[in-house]
Amino acid sequence: MKKRYLPVLVLLLLSLFLGCGNQLRKPLHLSSKFVEENHMPNASEAAALPGALNGNGRLNLAGVPGITPTPTVYSNPNRAKSASKRIKSYSTGEEQNQSSSGHELTLEELRRKYKSTLFFKGSPRWRAVALTFDDAPDPRFTPQILDELQRNHVKATFFLVGKRAEKYPTLVRRIAARGHVIGNHSYTHPNFNKLSESAFRREVLKTNRVLQPLIGYDPKLLRPPYGNIRENELVWLANNGFKVINWSSDSLDWKGLKADEIIANIMKNVEPGAIILQHAGGGTGEDLSETIKAIPRVVKKLRDRGYDIVTVPELLDLPKSR
Ligand SMILES: [Zn+2]
Repeated sequence: MKKRYLPVLVLLLLSLFLGCGNQLRKPLHLSSKFVEENHMPNASEAAALPGALNGNGRLNLAGVPGITPTPTVYSNPNRAKSASKRIKSYSTGEEQNQSSSGHELTLEELRRKYKSTLFFKGSPRWRAVALTFDDAPDPRFTPQILDELQRNHVKATFFLVGKRAEKYPTLVRRIAARGHVIGNHSYTHPNFNKLSESAFRREVLKTNRVLQPLIGYDPKLLRPPYGNIRENELVWLANNGFKVINWSSDSLDWKGLKADEIIANIMKNVEPGAIILQHAGGGTGEDLSETIKAIPRVVKKLRDRGYDIVTVPELLDLPKSR
């Protein structure tokens, strides 16, 4: 090589090195004070609860690579509207960067930007999956789901609605006593995309405050209703020790599907690291008896295919407590 090319080569290597460094930059961990206010659900929140509890759609999966969303028929026009809506960008002090210049961030962009806070699945290197159950506790379905899990020697992760936990504390204690992990699923099950930041914080903090004395720890895992989350909320959760757990395989069990359909929906998106969404509670008139029926068959299929069935903290190597 001719000598006069040497400085050019050095410059090239230097710029490559600096570029990588920038990509490896870790998310900021800022200390933040909790501001908690007393919150009683207002009339519209209370009215929204049964309808909202009709289930989690695949709203969060649009545009996430590696996850092929199943076309979903939305019976509720609000769900369809919400599904097509892009997550609004938000400027927050030190987290502010090129993406806060006014354009909206997709969930995929949020996932890449906050990869240590927002999870859809675990590492593909371990042939393991996590079963997760939302909207519990519900005396109609949760006890039977707990019994099926126990019979099949499975530990799962339950995302509880704070208001229901307050109403059925014995059931909350039973979920924890059976060795399952408990996470926060908000207090009244609102769409976080439509809340003010202070209302959002109240939903999160009030739920942890209800759960902690019942289960003996302060839940670290949070699943937003419908999987909807905004950037300002993610930043606040990251700064306050929470991890946001969405899913990569949706059973769509809340639709009242037959066990065969629930199993097919789960299995078609199963891969090492998958986080599987099911429900252990429902709205008025909702029936999860097919979810209960599906459990032993899903467990058998997963084990036959060589999967370990673990909790979310095991799958993602996270603590369950903040
Ligand atoms: Zn839910």
